Amino acid sequence: MQFTKLRLSGFKSFVDQTELLIEPGMTGVVGPNGCGKSNLLEALRWAMGETSAKRMRGEDMDDVIFGGTATRPARNICEVTMVLGNNARTAPPPFTDAEELEITRRLERGSGSDYRINGKLVRARDVQILFADHSSGANSPSMVSQGRVGALINAKPGDRRQLLEEAAGISGLHARRHEAELR
Ligand code: ATP
Ligand code: MG
Repeated sequence: MQFTKLRLSGFKSFVDQTELLIEPGMTGVVGPNGCGKSNLLEALRWAMGETSAKRMRGEDMDDVIFGGTATRPARNICEVTMVLGNNARTAPPPFTDAEELEITRRLERGSGSDYRINGKLVRARDVQILFADHSSGANSPSMVSQGRVGALINAKPGDRRQLLEEAAGISGLHARRHEAELR
């Protein structure tokens, strides 16, 4: 699947609805300090099912909702949608034949998140497994946050194994086994 669009509304500094097209050849996002570059990467991680407020640079998950400025009031809802092209038809059922997958996470202050794929309410776990099966996701090594390279070099062998499992494409199987064991 190819990541083609990111749509944000009320997320961190992106208070107004914003759409970012991810076109072939795009290699970077540039802009002055504080303009929201890291917030964009965090929006991606968040839509993929990030569960840690700390990794979103907040204390509480509600901190990802636009908190207001001197001129604009705070919001109570935020929403991030990732659009994925499904030309190769590798999306999981029941979405296998869809042209595109729209994965949306929405958060209302004090009420937690809900997730949708093409408008259908799904569990956070479904979204996390979908990305794990495609060697991606909120904790994937394909998302390199600041300090991550140094942390990997110094990581214990067991932790470094996660990187190899991603490369081998078996992290989705792990996530599913973990879920089966919980049942
Ligand atoms: P740098 O080049 O310094 O890394 P950046 O482009 O990565 O900067 P970000 O860290 O993405 O910038 O954006 C920081 C801005 O986002 C700050 O101005 C901060 O106030 C704003 N911000 C973060 N969370 C919220 C929120 N919940 N509500 C409103 N603004 C927010
Ligand atoms: Mg930054």
